[in-house]
Amino acid sequence: MSLYKEVLESYGRIKPYIDGVFRESESREYIKIFNPAKNEVIAELPISTGDEVDEAVDSAYEAYLKWRETPIPTRIQILFRMKSVLEKYRDEIARVIVQNHGKIYDEALGEVRRAIENVETAIGVAYLLQKGEYLENVAGGIDEYLVREPLGVAAIISPFNFPVMVPFWFIPYALAVGDTVVVKPSELTPVPFYWVMKLLHEEAKIPPGLINVVYGLGDVGDRLVSHKKVFGVAFVGSTKVARYIYKRVGELGKRAILQAGAKNYAVVMPDAKIDKTVTNLISSFFGNTGQRCLANSILVPIGDAYNKVVPKFIELAKNLRLGYGLDSDVDIGPVVSMKALEKIRRYIDIGVEEGARLSLDGRNVKVDKYPDGYFIGPTIFEDVTPDMTIAREEIFGPVASIIEAESLDQVIEMMDKSEYGNAASIFTSSGAVARKFRRGVNIGNIGINIGIAAPMAFFPFGGRKESFFGVVHGQVDSLDFFTDKKIVIERWW
Ligand code: NAD
Repeated sequence: MSLYKEVLESYGRIKPYIDGVFRESESREYIKIFNPAKNEVIAELPISTGDEVDEAVDSAYEAYLKWRETPIPTRIQILFRMKSVLEKYRDEIARVIVQNHGKIYDEALGEVRRAIENVETAIGVAYLLQKGEYLENVAGGIDEYLVREPLGVAAIISPFNFPVMVPFWFIPYALAVGDTVVVKPSELTPVPFYWVMKLLHEEAKIPPGLINVVYGLGDVGDRLVSHKKVFGVAFVGSTKVARYIYKRVGELGKRAILQAGAKNYAVVMPDAKIDKTVTNLISSFFGNTGQRCLANSILVPIGDAYNKVVPKFIELAKNLRLGYGLDSDVDIGPVVSMKALEKIRRYIDIGVEEGARLSLDGRNVKVDKYPDGYFIGPTIFEDVTPDMTIAREEIFGPVASIIEAESLDQVIEMMDKSEYGNAASIFTSSGAVARKFRRGVNIGNIGINIGIAAPMAFFPFGGRKESFFGVVHGQVDSLDFFTDKKIVIERWW
């Protein structure tokens, strides 16, 4: 059965999912949710009331008390069902992502695939990582062992740019170890996760309370973070909000994974395979319309790599086709909101004011079929210096800043001064150069001849400096976040 036909253009009023039921919200406040390619309203989102947030946490807590006692093999069955529903409806889910977020269909499908991989990985490691440790005879007649225990209810707060994948960076691991969750999706792109929950509810038969969903802005997230039954927060979003939550969880004595903003460098050495490099750079800078925390944002061709790379890069960028991600022959969709569009345009104005050379200007693009969409074309600045605003701040749009450098040492020094440490890539044919780069930079995710340094589910998601707050990272690493270690030392007389 496909539900997709029911919903084509509108999803109506979104309902919070509390205790296994989609309930009409008590809220009087609704915000409009848009299809960014068409500037059309596709849903209305309630701002969950304080009572609804509390009920969601209470439900999760009650469910946790039973869930933690449920044998692991039984818990894992839920994840198998989750995987098969996501597989079965991946096309439908991808379409909903396109409608609400604006990314093109293939990118949306890739996002669903990454979500599924996290479910698979959680199934795979659930037994292994929960096995614990045992050591006999640590002293005469005394044995000692370690068990991992779940902690209770976790809050999951997700950003707009990966509305399905990011919640799945955490949910499967939490459920695998015996925790339960309350999720607060982004207020810009709540529809895809809502839709996933509808599918899971109908076909995966997840017991009530294991996953609850509330909606709203920062204050709803804040209430969730502050709730005394919530042991910790897995957050992905901007550095500003991550910093705020980090302080808050510090005061409250909770744990947190806070994956934050980025400003990612791509370095091209003169010995790089130029054609392949440029093709890869194009998708890394402009894919998802630049709205990825792993997107490249600053291009540094070293020495004579400049003349080999830059003209081709500009030429290919110029030819990218903008449009609605559900149509064929589209390379780039719109940005997520009118506000995001205005912000990106403002950054371009600032780049011009500060003296960078605008080699490709995407500000005045027109998409005939979708004249009201939030479109902005690929934009490329040359003659950028590391101190310029466009080289320092996260723009989160299809804007590339090109900085010239003479040596790898010079660019490593530049990157050291950057506030962010999410990702960086190098393109080269030399293993020694690549090794020097990966060891020399204080960055959490490194790409070698790969622009988007995307880690797979079975590795943690890195991030340093202003790009990450906490100790353990997302994806498989979050098993450490969702459990605590108990040490038992015992003697029998
Ligand atoms: P955002 O910080 O504006 O919002 C993220 C989430 O936090 C939303 O659900 C929002 O409602 C919620 N929120 C806002 N204020 C809050 C508060 N006071 N308390 C609790 N929750 C609050 O981010 P965004 O614009 O949705 O997403 C884009 C940002 O996310 C970019 O900076 C991007 O780099 C970053 N991002 C990082 C990663 C990563 O893994 N490092 C991945 C994806 C996106």
